[in-house]
Amino acid sequence: MTTTTLPAPVTPPERILMGPGPSAISPRVLAAMAAPTVGHLDPYFLQIMDEMQSMLREVFRTENQLTLAVSGTGSAGMECCVVNVVEPGDRVLVCKNGVFGGRMADVAERAGAEVSVIERPFGEVFDADEVKAAIEQHSPQVVGIVHAETSTGAHQPLEEISKIVHDAGALLLVDTVTSLGGAPVEVDAWQLDAVYSGTQKCLSCPPGLAPVTFSPRAVEKIENRKTKVASWYLDTTMIRNYWGEQRSYHHTAPINANYGLHEALRIVLEEGLEARHARHLRNHQALAAGLEAMGIDYAVAEGIRLPMLNAAKIPEGCDDAKVRGQLLNQFGIEIGAGLGPMKGKTWRIGLMGEASSERNVLLFLAALERCLTDQSVSVTPGSGVAAANAYYAG
Ligand SMILES: *Cc1c(COP(=O)(O)O)cnc(C)c1O
Repeated sequence: MTTTTLPAPVTPPERILMGPGPSAISPRVLAAMAAPTVGHLDPYFLQIMDEMQSMLREVFRTENQLTLAVSGTGSAGMECCVVNVVEPGDRVLVCKNGVFGGRMADVAERAGAEVSVIERPFGEVFDADEVKAAIEQHSPQVVGIVHAETSTGAHQPLEEISKIVHDAGALLLVDTVTSLGGAPVEVDAWQLDAVYSGTQKCLSCPPGLAPVTFSPRAVEKIENRKTKVASWYLDTTMIRNYWGEQRSYHHTAPINANYGLHEALRIVLEEGLEARHARHLRNHQALAAGLEAMGIDYAVAEGIRLPMLNAAKIPEGCDDAKVRGQLLNQFGIEIGAGLGPMKGKTWRIGLMGEASSERNVLLFLAALERCLTDQSVSVTPGSGVAAANAYYAG
C-alpha cells in the first residue's frame, strides 16, 4: 500500500472579482448553498423550485410559463435555447460581434442548422437595417444575438431588431448572460423568444445554473417539432415535466446550486431591478470618469458601453500581463484580458452584481495607478480616484 499525502483542504485566496465573471458572491448566497441537501422531489425543494420560477419571471420581466434554471453554466443555457428551438435543416442567422456570437453559431451548426453569420468588428453593435437586409437574404426561422457581449463590452439594442425578426415570422434568440441583473432585460416588452442567462455575472451567484425563458411562440415551435430535441439532457419537453405539475424525474437537480440561486434572486428583488440597474450605471460612470482622467480610453464608443463590463484600452508601452499579475498578486484584484482581436489591447474590467460598488471602483483606480506608475506610464497622481470621487459627489 502506498501512502499519499492528503492535499490541504480548500482555502481559496481572498479575491476582488472584477473580471468578466464570476463576480463577487454575497455571504448570504454561500450560506444558502451550505444548507442541508434534501431530495429532488422533497416537498421543500419543490416549493423552492416554484419560488425560483416566479422570481425568475420577475427578473426576466416575463409571464412566460416555460421559465426555469437549466442545470449547467451559461453555455448550457445557450445550448438549451438553441437545441430546443432549432430543428435540423432550419435556417439560423447569427449576429456575431464577439466571442459569444461565434459560440452561438457553432452550437447552432452542431444542432444541424443551416447557419448564416453576419459580422461586426469587436466592440461594435448591429443596427436594425443590416439585420433586416440579412433576414431578407437568408429568410431564417431563428435569429440569434448577444445582448451584452462580455468579450467586447458592447451593449446591443434589441427592440427594433426584435420587431424586424417578428415581421419576418422568425424567432429571436437572445444571450443575456451578462446583462440580466445589471441592465434592463425586458423579455415580454421586447418580445424576446428564447432567452438564456447565467448565474455568475450580474446575479452574483456561483457558476452552475442557467436561467432560461421561452415565449409562447417559441414553445409552439418546440411543440410542433418533427424531430426530437437533439440533446436529451437539455430537452425542455421533458425538463418541464419536472418543473411543472407532473414532477416527473428527469435528472437530479443540483439542489444546493438551486438554493444559491434562490437566495441570489431574493437579493436582486430585495434591491429592486431599477435600483440595481441604476447602481450598475452609476459605478460604471464613476469608473469611466476615473479612467478618462488617467488618460485611458474605452475600446467601445460612448452610448453602447456595457455598465457591467468595461473594455479599456491598454496604454502604450504597458505590459498587459504584468499589470494584471500585479493587480492580482499585490492587490487581490482580478480583471480580465482582452479576447480575440482585443487580446493584448484591452482590459476587461467587470462591475457585476455585488462587485459593482463604490469601494471596488475607488480601490481599482488607486491600484491601477500604482501598476501603471510601476510600468513608467505617466499618470497624474490621484487623478483617477479624484475624478471618480467627483462623479460620486456630483
Ligand atoms: C459568460 C458568458 C457565456 C458563457 O457562460 P458560462 O457560464 O461561461 O458557460 C455566454 N455568453 C455570454 C455573453 C457570457 O458573458
